[in-house]
Amino acid sequence: MIGYYGSYDVVVCGGGTSGIPAAIAAARAGAKTLLVERVGQLGGQMNYSGPPGFSYAYFYNARREKIVGGFGEETYRRLFDEGHALPTKLQRWRNSYQFSYVDPDWWGLLAYQMIQESGVELMLHALVTDVVREGTAVRGVLAEHPSGRSIVLAKVVIDCTGEGEVSFQAGAETEIIGTDTLEPATVAFTADGVDWARFMDYVRDNIDEFTFAHLCEEYDGLTEGEIKQMVRQCESIEEIGEIMGFLSLKEKAIKTGEWHNFSGIGFFILPREGGVIQAHFQHSSQVGFADCTDVRDLTRVEVEARNQDVVAWKFFKKYVPGFEKAYITRVCPEARIRETRRVMGDYVLTEDDIAEARKFADVIGKSSFPAGAKHVIPGNEATVNGTLTLSNVNRYPKDGGSNDIPYRCLVVKGLDNLLVAGKAISTTRGAHNRFLQQTLVTGQAAGVAAALCARRGLTPRELEADVSELQQVLRGQGAILDGVH
Ligand SMILES: Cc1cc2nc3c(=O)[nH]c(=O)nc-3n(C[C@H](O)[C@H](O)[C@H](O)COP(=O)(O)OP(=O)(O)OC[C@H]3O[C@@H](n4cnc5c(N)ncnc54)[C@H](O)[C@@H]3O)c2cc1C
Repeated sequence: MIGYYGSYDVVVCGGGTSGIPAAIAAARAGAKTLLVERVGQLGGQMNYSGPPGFSYAYFYNARREKIVGGFGEETYRRLFDEGHALPTKLQRWRNSYQFSYVDPDWWGLLAYQMIQESGVELMLHALVTDVVREGTAVRGVLAEHPSGRSIVLAKVVIDCTGEGEVSFQAGAETEIIGTDTLEPATVAFTADGVDWARFMDYVRDNIDEFTFAHLCEEYDGLTEGEIKQMVRQCESIEEIGEIMGFLSLKEKAIKTGEWHNFSGIGFFILPREGGVIQAHFQHSSQVGFADCTDVRDLTRVEVEARNQDVVAWKFFKKYVPGFEKAYITRVCPEARIRETRRVMGDYVLTEDDIAEARKFADVIGKSSFPAGAKHVIPGNEATVNGTLTLSNVNRYPKDGGSNDIPYRCLVVKGLDNLLVAGKAISTTRGAHNRFLQQTLVTGQAAGVAAALCARRGLTPRELEADVSELQQVLRGQGAILDGVH
């Protein structure tokens, strides 16, 4: 039996890092909004299967100009003011230049508060399994939940499922590359009880064991030696933020079977109340050759990732000074998926658009994340005809600037009343917009666009003809659309 649930201006499918800003922005712009989420917890890759190792990064470009505001800025500020975020750091040895660590669980709790404040209705534990389509127009979705199946009607549907599921169900054109080159998936975990003083002594005494990003060489003229010297002078792990390497330990452990060969060794930090810092491991498992839209592969990913995590944690306990009495506090409930489908839209953002720092008249937000940056695991080095393609070939926006994200990347090609936000927006593979800040930006923009379409009786495609009101509302919500490189 299929029941009728209700009729809305905007229905947002997926309550992750793009879906939450999408729903809040739509409601703030005056739309009657429903957010449908598959599990009971809002937050997606930020707190359910996350957090991102360097959360709230790339809010600045390499020139230190702030390029991301809006929902990202607002949530950071609220969390910081309540003691759930660390101060923003501009670090010269990190490619992102800036990072602002936030407590992921408080991020999730804040999301519920903001959803209620803005008047968004929630439908939790509800999986969107199909769409209601009339010709090329999407009129709503079918949701399955503990009480059965319901039709939800909408003037505009926003696909924030991360994997482009709703667009796929609607018959949209999507792209997914082969499993030999898809990025690996991860089950992240967090640990407490680390003796940080002991660990920091180890880092200072063994600085050549670690690797640090140094794009800043290009802008600051720093050598690797100078960067390592700066890191050695850090007084606390908060100042370092993330650490990768343990090079000779890894070499030894690989030989003895005490480290698996699927990732480098390292961790990020995670701030907790009262100044507590935990270690967060988001690269310690990486399962490749898997299409996470295929249930068999996805199941294998969940099992293999946990096996790798066990190997990784035993390694840390045995070999890394400071971790002797540490203990795991949180294993994410499901795998984090880096890459599956991209949904084709009215414009497809390219690597050149990013590298050339291109500007577009229909800009809805900015990004300074490089094109081509991909995770690879041994065995899938992303080669085509023997030539290294995307892996390790980062192309940063030129002159330390940023590229615009055009509104048309959110408008699903060939279909009406359907927008996509988050990591599935319309890009080439090399321009994949999968970073947290990009998903916040595109989510907020899709929410405002959907609300305007509902109010003015336009389809998202018709809105393309004049985006001035969309841009004006976004600026009013704090988004940064101009005035920076
Ligand atoms: C291992 C890993 C490390 C990362 N590290 C970083 C980092 O360090 N810094 C950074 O900035 N970014 C990082 N990212 C990227 C970033 O966290 C994510 O790409 C981003 O959060 C994805 O946002 P999203 O809204 O597209 O998807 P998600 O946050 O995954 O949200 C999708 C939501 O939709 C729901 N959903 C899915 N299908 C349905 C359905 N059919 N019906 C209803 N609900 C549904 C899901 O339950 C989920 O809540 C990392 C990603 C991974 C995988």
